[in-house]
Amino acid sequence: MKALDELTFDNRFARLGDAFSTHVLPEPLDEPRLVVASRAAMALLDLDPAVAETPLFAELFGGHKLWAEAQPRAMVYSGHQFGGYTPQLGDGRGLLLGEVHNQAGEHWDLHLKGAGMTPYSRMGDGRAVLRSSIREFLASEALHALGIPSSRALCVIGSSTPVWREKQERGAMVLRLAPSHIRFGHFEYFYYTKKPEQQAELAEHVLNLHYPECREQPEPYLAMFREIVERNAEMIAKWQAYGFCHGVMNTDNMSILGITFDYGPFAFLDDFDAHFICNHSDHEGRYSFSNQVPIGQWNLSALAQALTPFISVDALKEALGLYLPLYQAHYLDLMRRRLGLTTAEDDDQQLVERLLKLMQNSGVDYTLFFRRLGDEPAALAVTRLRDDFVDMAGFDAWAERYTARVLRDGDDSEEQRRARMHAVNPLYILRNYLAQNAITAAEQGDYSEVRRLHEVLTKPFEEQAGMEQYAQRPPDWGKHLEISCSS
Ligand code: AMP
Ligand code: MG
Repeated sequence: MKALDELTFDNRFARLGDAFSTHVLPEPLDEPRLVVASRAAMALLDLDPAVAETPLFAELFGGHKLWAEAQPRAMVYSGHQFGGYTPQLGDGRGLLLGEVHNQAGEHWDLHLKGAGMTPYSRMGDGRAVLRSSIREFLASEALHALGIPSSRALCVIGSSTPVWREKQERGAMVLRLAPSHIRFGHFEYFYYTKKPEQQAELAEHVLNLHYPECREQPEPYLAMFREIVERNAEMIAKWQAYGFCHGVMNTDNMSILGITFDYGPFAFLDDFDAHFICNHSDHEGRYSFSNQVPIGQWNLSALAQALTPFISVDALKEALGLYLPLYQAHYLDLMRRRLGLTTAEDDDQQLVERLLKLMQNSGVDYTLFFRRLGDEPAALAVTRLRDDFVDMAGFDAWAERYTARVLRDGDDSEEQRRARMHAVNPLYILRNYLAQNAITAAEQGDYSEVRRLHEVLTKPFEEQAGMEQYAQRPPDWGKHLEISCSS
């Protein structure tokens, strides 16, 4: 266990130099205070959890103090936003403070979001508000706990600094951790600004540090791209299987590591709705729940375009062709497990699709349905769940097929079935209204709810005593909360 001043840095990205990032100091928040910290994320840095409560913690992650070895840098990138190319973006309100290596030999970027203006702030104020910082914190840790690859969050630091959005709010910072904060948009930036030397340097950097196993392949860059395709297919399959909607899948928000990244107006589905749009500003539904799948491929094609200096177009196309079949295989595998099935049959895809259509038509709660399906033997569970469906005859037909399928799958004990299903079907999910309750309390200075919700979400598959209120459908007010990009 380490104290805060014992972190050791090795700032590999900063060493790439000024073509890749700009030195900027964080702009401190007034009266910084700890809102919430993740013990699990602190462990990644070997930090003693007790240090979260010290004044130094809030000073470091509230922009007041820096380690002597830290080298705060704002990274430059560009990207396709809602389908159109924006030539220059970058860390407009975030700073890569440095890279820490832990005792296990892992490197973790410390990235402070809401750290003030940078050369890439454009029209923005460089700040993040408490509301969006809490949402990013909770989502990062909740997705990780569900087994969905994600950047992590160490803490949220609140303050008395006024920040103007639609109304006056308070500034906050969230400290994000990831092995790298390099995005698809980094490659696009050097490609479209026609800087082949820097682009090659970036590609070497990513290959050496993050895909070293691809070095062994005959075409290392191609192997790396294939791996990125595979990781994205798997990540998006998990989003779909667990009802996660990212909301702003612009290429500047897509991690080169295939992890969920840059949380904004995201949401988990309450009622199943394939057409759900979580971002209030996404008028065309480009990033609607079901569109996330083709958009994943669209984003990979944008990255492929930026990699044409290194890889032949034919090879890139072939690698892109892997995306959909891989996505489908991962998705079906997860959905089979969510249904408690251990074997594969040809009609399973149809079984899943039929169920989702019935859920869609009746507005059935996506998370609770699967959880309850595993509570009891299949034949009993479906008789209890049928009341939630408007088209009961339709559900009965599905249920008959399902129970027959379960029988063919093999007969394990009730206990085994429950354990197997509960291990993949969460009871607790980060519902928008739960986040909103925690935010409302935090905005009044009461951080107990955000801390409790965070704790519950770190064990989403485990029933926790006294936490029933976190496993309910949303009340009417919490069903259609509007979340926009303004964070
Ligand atoms: P996002 O939609 O949060 O991924 O942000 C898109 C771009 O706008 C990124 O380059 C951000 O750094 C920048 N940005 C977003 N909000 C702000 C802000 N309040 N101040 C400065 N830059 C911002
Ligand atoms: Mg972003």
